[in-house]
Amino acid sequence: MTFLFNSDARRGTIFADAFAQALPEIPFSMDAASVDADAVRYLITWTAPADLARYRNLEILFSIGAGVDQLNLAAIPEHVKVVRMVEDGIVRMMQEYVLLATLALHRNLPAYLDRQRQGVWLSMPQMQAQDRRVGILGLGMLAQAVLDRLKPLGFPLSGWSRSPRELDGVTCHHGAAGLETMLAQTDILVCLLPLTEETRGFLNADLFAKLPQGAALIHTGRGPQLDQSALIEALDSDHLSAAMIDVTDPEPLPADHPLWRHPKIILTPHIASVTQPETAARAVIENIQLHLSGRDPIGLVDRVRGY
Ligand code: NAP
Repeated sequence: MTFLFNSDARRGTIFADAFAQALPEIPFSMDAASVDADAVRYLITWTAPADLARYRNLEILFSIGAGVDQLNLAAIPEHVKVVRMVEDGIVRMMQEYVLLATLALHRNLPAYLDRQRQGVWLSMPQMQAQDRRVGILGLGMLAQAVLDRLKPLGFPLSGWSRSPRELDGVTCHHGAAGLETMLAQTDILVCLLPLTEETRGFLNADLFAKLPQGAALIHTGRGPQLDQSALIEALDSDHLSAAMIDVTDPEPLPADHPLWRHPKIILTPHIASVTQPETAARAVIENIQLHLSGRDPIGLVDRVRGY
């Protein structure tokens, strides 16, 4: 019963130490070339290796990241459970990033950075937090954690999901009608949706048109959810006021891409949230313990929904 680690050696060493402490009965390997393929029950990786089929007794494939859109789920045998990364480090970093981005957009930072570049000392009217409505696309693990961090700041908060949710202090919407309602009442829109066939190209001209004039976007989902040209058009026409973008398509973004130098955009290179090996190792160990006791691991992916 071997655990195979298929990612960078630095994180692998931290995982190896944690496994040696907490699960010494499960051999740990970082070497796919020498491992006994039949013994591999657990695999952690970013993308599925081309020779996945050789691990005939694989029970769980763990994604080393929070999403599973990089995996071709159809190519993973049905009996293998696919588990996304749910760990404290990812959650904490996403809370920090969305807090940073929300405050940056709330306090008109893109406009002030542009004025700084031009040497222009000029203030603009400042909307108060109680009037700045923040709406999140997605009400999953990360969105809920982010909402908890935003609550003390006094922004009216809302969120949208596929299925109905009830969250303290958050106006929850779901379904197509719920989306329209939320968009019409959102000044800062945050995307924290997983990338699926339904959410590909979701942030497009139609959606932007449903936001109030002057609204702003924070995109921390996945690059292919955003129609980048539509965003630039919405910013250039002043329908949207600004955006903070962490994920693009492609990644890395080519050096001459217009998103880089747009005066109303703050761009970061997919750093909102990164798996932290110490907390991730603990989360994976706990998930194996759940699995060994006959329970479902946390972060089990629903293959039909794709997240
Ligand atoms: P999650 O717990 O699976 O939550 C996903 C949420 O999206 C759920 O509320 C779900 O609705 C909703 N949703 C999915 N498809 C939908 C649809 N078609 N219509 C309406 N709602 C839909 O995921 P998470 O852990 O919060 O992570 C969200 C995403 O963040 C990840 O998939 C990843 O792409 C992204 N991420 C980005 C970074 C970064 O550094 N930029 C880091 C980590 C994660 P239900 O509640 O009804 O299921």
